[in-house]
Amino acid sequence: MATRLSPIQVARRVTLGVALAGMTILAALHQRMQGVPSIDALDPFGGLETLLKFLAGGDYIKKIEPGNIVMLGGIAVLGVVLSRFFCGWFCAFGALQGVFGWLGKKLFRRRFVVPKRLDAVLRWLKYPILAAVVYFTWRTGELVIRPYDPLAAYGHLPAGLTAVWAEFAVGLGMLVAILVLSTLYERAFCKYVCPLGAVNAILGRIPIFRIKRTVPTCISCSKCDKACPMNVDVSGPEAVGSAECISCMECVTVCPTKKSSLVPTLGGKPVKLRVVVAFGFGIFIAAAAIGQATGMLRFSARSLAERAALGDLRVEDIKGSSTYAMVADSFGIELERLYREVGVDPKAVPADAMIKDTGKLAGIEGFEADEARIAVARILGIPYAGEGGAAPTVAPTASSPASSSHAATGTPGPGSVPEGFALEGTMSVTDLAAALGWSTAAVAEKLGLPADIPVDRPLRDMKDSYGYSMPDLKERIKR
Ligand code: SF4
Ligand code: SF4
Repeated sequence: MATRLSPIQVARRVTLGVALAGMTILAALHQRMQGVPSIDALDPFGGLETLLKFLAGGDYIKKIEPGNIVMLGGIAVLGVVLSRFFCGWFCAFGALQGVFGWLGKKLFRRRFVVPKRLDAVLRWLKYPILAAVVYFTWRTGELVIRPYDPLAAYGHLPAGLTAVWAEFAVGLGMLVAILVLSTLYERAFCKYVCPLGAVNAILGRIPIFRIKRTVPTCISCSKCDKACPMNVDVSGPEAVGSAECISCMECVTVCPTKKSSLVPTLGGKPVKLRVVVAFGFGIFIAAAAIGQATGMLRFSARSLAERAALGDLRVEDIKGSSTYAMVADSFGIELERLYREVGVDPKAVPADAMIKDTGKLAGIEGFEADEARIAVARILGIPYAGEGGAAPTVAPTASSPASSSHAATGTPGPGSVPEGFALEGTMSVTDLAAALGWSTAAVAEKLGLPADIPVDRPLRDMKDSYGYSMPDLKERIKR
């Protein structure tokens, strides 16, 4: 007979359902409507990825918005006060795994377990993943995890499988693997891989929130252990101090001793379950309210026109969802000139077409929105190093200077590219500098590579760590 859920667990499932539905709807709208932020701009982990860059210069990694930092701040406070409450109550990806876990229970009528010793080793995996993601994001200035991120792959599914496969082949594979695994084993991604879970686990070591077990009333039925989605040993110790606990309260609500054996505590004092939940929601809502009041957290992206009006318009702000008309208007440039510089036929790509649809409409394989950014920068005569490089703020006017020559940009320009030059993957930055007659610093700058990239290693060996592809580099050299 199915066990009746307690009101707290109904509330938790509804909250997770709303988080998952909200994220899915926003992801779908982002593909169809202007101004709806992408999943990248909604992921709190993006706040951590951009944090070092933000602290160093107040700037954000591309695709990341101030709202990511606000959400990260809220989750950090939540993590300190209530451990991994975010994972147990608000995480949309946790909810998605929960849905497949529920399907698995229906299908197989049993849960599988990972052998204890293997499980203990695998649980450490998320910490080096967290360290690697933060380090390489900081080194490259790009979202290095994005192509491998199952959540990013999920959030782009409304763009169609072909598009997701082209951009997130590994992430899509991960997504499928995780969801299949979830039918057999609960929250495997949260336990072993999730870098945001790792952050929360670290913060949760601060012992403000704990579930304590009252030994004299416990009847050792182990129902709490069986109910725990994170396979924490609840019935053994006198308090749940595991970094793996996601504060879901399943153990407390399932305990047959009517909550007298498992007692939530805050700062060592017993508190009612609803107080813990109210705290969790209070912190989350307060963070969202602060984000809204300061204008940092937006559920609609600022349009190019709005940014132009605020004098905060950058070439970098051109999104794949921006239309050609919008870009031309906001930057004060002629539409025909924009088409010419991008190299597309206006008959094939109408002015109200989104830039990301250019490849499809004009039959240009591998077209990227960055080509429009580079074209606008060329027209305006401002330096723009391509994705990952810094783009200066421009003050658009109808009479913005239009020049496409490098000489007119006033940037420290290397010489021209010799006739017949071909970039080979085996070349290093030094080889490239010698072949082009540029300095290694100019090569790094013009190709949008980090200034500290090793200059003597083959470029193809560093592409994954520094987040570029060889076709990208070839294209940049061509330009
Ligand atoms: S120990 Fe209890 S609160 Fe923590 S994850 Fe397990 S069931 Fe949830
Ligand atoms: S569910 Fe309650 S009574 Fe049963 S083992 Fe856990 S704490 Fe003890």
